[in-house]
Amino acid sequence: MATITLPEAGIQESKKTATKYVYSFGGGKADGHGKMKDDLGGKGAGLAEMTNAGLPVPPGFTIQTEACREFMRSGGVSKEVDRQTEEALATLEALQGQKLGTGENPLLVSVRSGAKFSMPGMMDTILNLGLNDKSVESLAKRSNNPRFAADSYRRLIQMFGNVVLEIPKRAFDEVFDAKKKQKKTHLDTDLDAKALKEVIEEYKKVVKKHAKRDFPQDPHEQLVMARDAVFRSWQNDRAKHYRRINNIDDMLGTAVNVQAMVYGNLGETSGTGVGFTRNPATGAKEFYGEFLMNAQGEDVVSGVRTPVPILELQKIMPDVYNQLREITTRLEKHYKDMQDFEFTIQDGKLYMLQTRNGKRTGRAAVRVAIQMVDEGLISKEEAIFRVEPNQLYDFLVPRLDEKSTKVEVLATGLPASPGAAVGQIVFTAEDAVKKAGHDRKNPVILVRAETTPEDIQGMEVAAGILTSRGGMTSHAAVVTRGMGKCCVAGAGDIQVDERAGEMRVKGQVFREGDWLSLDGTSGRVIKGKLNTLEASSDDADLQKLMGWAEPFRKIGVRANADIPRDAIQAKTFGAEGIGLCRTEHMFFAEDRIPHMRTMILANNEKDRRIALKKLLPMQRADFIGLFKAMAGLPVTIRLLDPPLHEFLPKREELMVEIAVLEATKPRSSKLKELRTLLGRVEELHEFNPMLGHRGCRLGITYPEITEMQARAIFEAMVAVDKEGIKTHAEVMIPLISTVKEMANQGAIVRRVAEEVFKEKGRHVHYLVGTMIELPRACLVADEIAKEAEFFSFGTNDLTQTTFGFSRDDVNKVLPTYLAEGILKQDPFAAIDRDGVGELVRIGIERGRKTRPKLEVGICGEHGGDPSSVEFCHQVGMDYVSCSPFRVLTARLAAAQAGASDTLKLEGGRTK
Ligand code: PEP
Ligand code: MG
Repeated sequence: MATITLPEAGIQESKKTATKYVYSFGGGKADGHGKMKDDLGGKGAGLAEMTNAGLPVPPGFTIQTEACREFMRSGGVSKEVDRQTEEALATLEALQGQKLGTGENPLLVSVRSGAKFSMPGMMDTILNLGLNDKSVESLAKRSNNPRFAADSYRRLIQMFGNVVLEIPKRAFDEVFDAKKKQKKTHLDTDLDAKALKEVIEEYKKVVKKHAKRDFPQDPHEQLVMARDAVFRSWQNDRAKHYRRINNIDDMLGTAVNVQAMVYGNLGETSGTGVGFTRNPATGAKEFYGEFLMNAQGEDVVSGVRTPVPILELQKIMPDVYNQLREITTRLEKHYKDMQDFEFTIQDGKLYMLQTRNGKRTGRAAVRVAIQMVDEGLISKEEAIFRVEPNQLYDFLVPRLDEKSTKVEVLATGLPASPGAAVGQIVFTAEDAVKKAGHDRKNPVILVRAETTPEDIQGMEVAAGILTSRGGMTSHAAVVTRGMGKCCVAGAGDIQVDERAGEMRVKGQVFREGDWLSLDGTSGRVIKGKLNTLEASSDDADLQKLMGWAEPFRKIGVRANADIPRDAIQAKTFGAEGIGLCRTEHMFFAEDRIPHMRTMILANNEKDRRIALKKLLPMQRADFIGLFKAMAGLPVTIRLLDPPLHEFLPKREELMVEIAVLEATKPRSSKLKELRTLLGRVEELHEFNPMLGHRGCRLGITYPEITEMQARAIFEAMVAVDKEGIKTHAEVMIPLISTVKEMANQGAIVRRVAEEVFKEKGRHVHYLVGTMIELPRACLVADEIAKEAEFFSFGTNDLTQTTFGFSRDDVNKVLPTYLAEGILKQDPFAAIDRDGVGELVRIGIERGRKTRPKLEVGICGEHGGDPSSVEFCHQVGMDYVSCSPFRVLTARLAAAQAGASDTLKLEGGRTK
C-alpha cells in the first residue's frame, strides 16, 4: 500500500496554529475523551471519560503531553501553554465559584503527572496547592477546623519543597520528628493546630535555607512551578530507568492534571481508598480494595495506618458503598476490562479520582479474560490479547496454599524469582548442603545478607533463597532465576546475622531450623510452614484460553533440552520437538569428563579414537533417552560446539597444584601428569575462544569427534526404531560460515549414517542441517543451503558476532548503553530487528532461494522472548525453540502474532 507523506514543515506549521494544549473537564462534560491517552495520558483520558459519563469527578484540566515534549526540546513551555493554562484555570474557578488560593473560600488544587503508560518512577503528587499564609486562615474558618487547615498547609510546603524545590525529605522529617518529641507524642494526629503552625514556620525556614528563596505565596506561581516540575520529572533518573526496563519511548512525555481538591480527612464522614473491580491476584470476581476513614490518599499507601477491607464500607456508609459499586461496575463494562480505581469521600459525598485497567498476575489475567468472554464483554479473539505471554510463567511455578493456615507476613522483599518455597532456615551454604540431605529430602531456605558465587552449592540444594540486601539483578536474583528456583531478594526489614546464626524481623528472632515460607511471585516472607500447591499447566482456565489462541498459531514451538527429563517437561508444556540439544552438556557429567579430558589430551588420532570409543555408549544412551521421550517428534542434535579447553582444569589452578607438589612431592608421578596437562592446557589456550577453535572447526580438525557423535545418534535411532518407537533426528552442525565447511561435516555424518544402517540392517530418516549464527552464513545462505537441509538461527552467537559484543562480558557496557539510550534494549534478550533481524531475513530469503522448502527455526535465547517470537513469525520461520519453561510463553506469543495477522486481514476486530 502506498503511504502518503506530508511535508514535515507543513505539519509543524499547522500544529503551531492549532495546538490545543489544555483540556478542561467538569460540569458533566470534558474537552477530551478516553481514547486520547497519547495526548492526555492515562489519568487525564480516564478523568475526561468519567466526566463525560456523568460520574462525580472533581473538575479540573489536563495540560497535554505536547507541552512536555516542548519543555524537553527547549527547557520551557511556550506562552501559548501559559495562556491556555490561565484560561482553563479561569473556567475551573467559574465552575467552582472560587478563586485559586484567594478569598474566603479559596480554590485549592492537586497537581499530578500522568503519562500514557502508568509510571511509578515519576513525580509524586502535590496536594493542597493554592494554600499560603492568607488562604490557610480562610480554609480554617470555612472548614471550621484550624487543625485541618494547618495540616494541609504544612503538607503542601513539604510536598512542594521536596518535589518542586528538590529539598531532601529528611530536612522536613527532622523538623516534624523534633516537634513530636517536644510535644511528647508519637502520632502525627496528636499534634494540634498550634503545634502545626510552629511546624509551618520551621518548614519555611527549611525552604529558605535549602532553596535560597521563600516558599512562594503567589498561588499562580505555585501552579506554574509545579507544572514545570512535573515536566522535569519525566527526565529524572527513576523515570528513565522505569521506561528503559518497561520499553517505554522516552519521547512520549507526560501530561499534567490539575484538579480541584476534595478532602477525605474532613472528619468521620470523609475517607479515601483504592480498589479493583476483581481480585488482581486470583482474578476472582469480587470487589477488592481498601480504604481509611478520615484520611488522605498518602495515608493509605504509606502504611502509617492500616487500611480496612473495602467491604467494611458497606457497614459504615451503605449508600456511598452502593454508589461506588454501581460506578465501578459501570466503568468496567465501559472499558471492558478490570478497573483499578481511586476514590475520596468528602462529607459523605463520593468522588472518583482515577480509573484505569488494573495490573494483575498471570493467573488473574487468564481468569478475568475468560470471565469477560462468558459475560459477553469481549470476544474470544480479544481475550487472547488480554494476557501477556510472559505472564504465563505464573502457571509453571508452585504457589503457597494460603487457605491452609494463618498467614503472618514478616517482610516483603523483591519478587526476584517466582514460585513458592517452604523450608527450614539455614544461614550458610555448607549448612544448606548438610541439612538438605540426600535427594534434598529436607527442604531448606538459605537466608543470607546477600549471596556470592561461593554459595552456589547451597543455593542448588535449597528450596528457596532469601536475602536482605540486593536488587533484581543481584547474584541471588540472577542465579535463582536461571535455576527456576524461588527467591525473595533485598528484604530490607530483615537483619541477618550469619555468624550468630539468626535473623531478626518485626521484633522476632529466627534461628536455624525455624520454618519459613517464601512467595517469590509477590516477594513476601511468611512465618511458618505453609503448604504449597504444585505447578500445573493443565489448569482448566489456561487450557481454555490456549484452546482459543492456538488455532491462530502458524509457527511451531520446540524446546532447547539436553536430557530426557527436560524434554518430557517441555512436552507437557506443549513443545512439539527439541530445537536444540547441546551435546557438550552431556560431557560435563562426572563420569564422562575424564574420558573427555583423555580425548582432548591425546596428541594423536589413535589415542583420541580410544577415548572417543569410551564416550560412544554413553552418548548413545543419552540419545536413546531423548528419542524415546520425544517419540517421533523432531529432535535437533547439535554436534560438539565449545572450545575444548572448557573441559580442562583452569591454568591458574593447575599452576598452584604443581607448585604445591613441587614443594612437597617433587618426584611424584602426579606431578609429571600435571605438568603434561598444563602443557596441553597452554597449547589449547586461545585469546578469543569464542572466535576460535570451536563449532564445526572442531569437527573439521578432529573428524573422529563428528564420526563418534554421528554414530551415537544413528545407533540410538536404530535401537529405538527397533522397539517400535518412531524417531526424527535433525543433525545440526554449529558455527558454519562457508558451504565447504558444511559439505565437509555433512559428508562425514552421511557416511557414518550409511555405515550404521548397513551394519544394523535398518534405515531411518534424518536431516543434516546447520546453525546460522555468523553474519557470513546469512549472506551466503544460498550457497550453504545447497548442503544444509535445514537452518536454525543461533541468535546468541549471531548477536555476538554482528555487534562484536562478547555475550559473556556485555554487562560491562550494556548498562551504560541503555542509560545513554545508545541501545533501547538488551540485544541478547530481544532480537535487534534492524541489524541481527535483517541478517536473519536475508538468511531465510537466500536459503529458500536455493531450497524453497528449507525448514527454518531459531534456537537462540530469543526463541522464548515474545517480541522476538513475533518477529520470527513475521519473517516466515517454521518454528521457534526455547527453554522448557518458556514454551507456554512462546506458544501464546506465536498465537498472538498469528491472530494479529488474521484479524487484520478480517478488518481488525481486536487490539
Ligand atoms: C546460539 O548461538 O544462539 C546458540 C543457540 O548456541 P549457543 O548458545 O550454544 O552458542
Ligand atoms: Mg552458538
